[in-house]
Amino acid sequence: MAIPFFKEMRIGSYLLKQKLLGRKRYPLVLMLEPLFRCNLACIGCGKIDYPDAILNRRMSVQECLDAADECGAPMVAIPGGEPLIHKEIGEIVKGLVARKKFVSLCTNALLLEKKLHLFEPSPYLFFSIHLDGLKDHHDKSVSQEGVFDKCVSAIKAAKARGFTVNVNATIFDGHAAEDIAAFLDYAKELDVGVSISPGYAYERAPDQEHFLSRRKTKELFRRVFELGKGKGWKFMHSALFLDFLAGNQEHHCTPWGMPTRNIFGWQKPCYLLGEGYTKTFTELMETTDWDAYGTGRYEKCANCMAHCGYEPTAATATLAHPLQAFLTSLRGPRVTGPMAPEIALDQQRPAEYVFSAQVQQKLSEIRTAEAREKAEKTASAA
Ligand code: SF4
Ligand code: SF4
Repeated sequence: MAIPFFKEMRIGSYLLKQKLLGRKRYPLVLMLEPLFRCNLACIGCGKIDYPDAILNRRMSVQECLDAADECGAPMVAIPGGEPLIHKEIGEIVKGLVARKKFVSLCTNALLLEKKLHLFEPSPYLFFSIHLDGLKDHHDKSVSQEGVFDKCVSAIKAAKARGFTVNVNATIFDGHAAEDIAAFLDYAKELDVGVSISPGYAYERAPDQEHFLSRRKTKELFRRVFELGKGKGWKFMHSALFLDFLAGNQEHHCTPWGMPTRNIFGWQKPCYLLGEGYTKTFTELMETTDWDAYGTGRYEKCANCMAHCGYEPTAATATLAHPLQAFLTSLRGPRVTGPMAPEIALDQQRPAEYVFSAQVQQKLSEIRTAEAREKAEKTASAA
């Protein structure tokens, strides 16, 4: 049985079950960030700007598996930081696969060849290699020469060992449609699936000048899809998400569709925005003011078209309109004609800046825990 079909069947039946149970909000993919430490410093990254005391923290294997059990989503994506830096990443993946979760291990691939022995090929495991474009573009994007070549070598090595490999590309302003198309041609040559998404405008990313506006995103993707007609690029997305990128769907995001668990706890409201944390998944679902977020509601959401917010929306729309989804997948996204109306921004609430307070609180928790540990050790040695 081909893996994508098997995966789609399992995900489809999960979605159908949620619908039959009448659930309004449910998770589709757990975004598990077991650490924030990374061995790269990409210019568009908004995940690694923490003090060392936080970058040195890791979620334990048990915490990771408990998060998957608690959340119940059929898929688990493991981004970071760089998950291959986590000493127990092999155990974490093994535990998730044993639970029959579809695991997408997102990595910049620098350590992949060295650590392949930690994993076993499985229909439940996918490597998702961070690759933003062809050689010059990618190396610039990750601020280090030679990374593209290492990624390609790791992709080939992993495929040769029987693993399923995809690439994930984040698109920023200034990346020409023709270059993106050439990159997608190359991904086809490598025989890997592609997950593609406009970059979210992280407030703490080093490069603040190249995030795409919604209008520019739609125009760029229309041009890319036009260049791709008949080429058979293998996107790891639903047809309706691609149609959304091309400006043909007026979707609102589904932030609870990809809930995020990291060393801070369960992140409110989504993978991209950390506006608060809860101790449990149930608390996240029940106490987050979901209506306070999304394009048109909150300034920080104004330009967001990222897949982690809108792929769950597209999945729900696929279930509600299967014929439309089927026809869109046959024809591909529409690249001409009027776009769906844009969501008005005049009622959005202003951005709140809570990052520093959260970091200070976490640092104080870490210090308290360390002092308690030290006191316990001294007491037991006396
Ligand atoms: S590889 Fe990923 S986590 Fe690491 S710096 Fe780049 S974008 Fe951030
Ligand atoms: S629009 Fe939705 S997915 Fe995007 S940052 Fe806002 S809440 Fe998150």
